[in-house]
Amino acid sequence: MPLVPMRILLDHAAENGYGLAAFNVNNMEQIQAIMMAAQKTDSPVIVQASRGARKYSNDAYLRHLMLAAVELNPKIPIAMHQDHGNSPETCMSAIKQGFTSVMMDGSLDESGKVPMDYAYNVAVTRKVVEAAHAVGVTVEGEIGALGGIEDGHGAGLDEEEVKLHLTNPDDAERFVADTGVDALAVAIGTSHGAYKFKRKPTGEVLKMDLIEEIHRRLPNTHLVMHGSSSVPEELLNVIRMHGGFIPETYGVPVKEIQRGIKHGVRKVNIDTDNRLAMTGAIRRAFDADPNEFDPRKYLGPAREAMAAVCEERMIAFGQAGNAGKIKVKTCRQMVAFYRRQSSKAARRKKR
Ligand SMILES: [Zn+2]
Repeated sequence: MPLVPMRILLDHAAENGYGLAAFNVNNMEQIQAIMMAAQKTDSPVIVQASRGARKYSNDAYLRHLMLAAVELNPKIPIAMHQDHGNSPETCMSAIKQGFTSVMMDGSLDESGKVPMDYAYNVAVTRKVVEAAHAVGVTVEGEIGALGGIEDGHGAGLDEEEVKLHLTNPDDAERFVADTGVDALAVAIGTSHGAYKFKRKPTGEVLKMDLIEEIHRRLPNTHLVMHGSSSVPEELLNVIRMHGGFIPETYGVPVKEIQRGIKHGVRKVNIDTDNRLAMTGAIRRAFDADPNEFDPRKYLGPAREAMAAVCEERMIAFGQAGNAGKIKVKTCRQMVAFYRRQSSKAARRKKR
């Protein structure tokens, strides 16, 4: 099967009450790691690439690596998603490259650094929804701003500032009606990168109750949790034991993510945990044999370590066992779906 629109996976997850990890990729080993885990657990897959990833790997390499994943895993539905598109142009170029889903992050300006107002966010997101839905591609929007910076993207808000940019449920409701997005990223106190919380997060800093409120208002919108690596102590310790230095830091506990999944979270973005796992494995390999210089001898274990994290998350979020159960639709088939949806909305407006 070709790459599938992400909406198909999110809908199936919503109907069956599970969540999907969305893993970031930059190279062959990371794509292979995700597919190894998906094969093992029969999981549908969301692979995502940031602007930084597309620049690093080059769109052509990325596209062909994804096509290889599709060719080698014919029974697994795979969606390819643009993470944090900074402009309609970025989203359009992703669609041209074969991405089946795009995020238009209009919560920040085009530099990806400055929080923007509601009107700007709606204008750019609406534009992407119109163009993407016309070709059956899924769209994720964002309202509210996350902390931290990753791949140069982010306003660099700290734990305190993040509290001022949490998603307002009224805005979220209005935003979905005004834009028609398929999925909505919400700011609930998480940050990008490895340094999310200075101590174990409580309800004070990680606002899971906000997710519950937004889901009550928007029961049919797929919610997305960004910055949702768990930053497990075991992964940090492998790095520390083999010469690396990572100060004390905490992520989003898997248990809290599972609580989110009970309340409408369908996509959970994971990057840091995989980075930590790969780095730890590479450090361990060099430590074990300082004479080693065959890249396969450290990239191989790195790939294994990332696959283990992916597998764990796929099981914890409930997507395991679902790859074979999804009735796949193509982007072309989704075009008709969106047409019906928008004429229904127009009729509602007339009344
Ligand atoms: Zn993000």
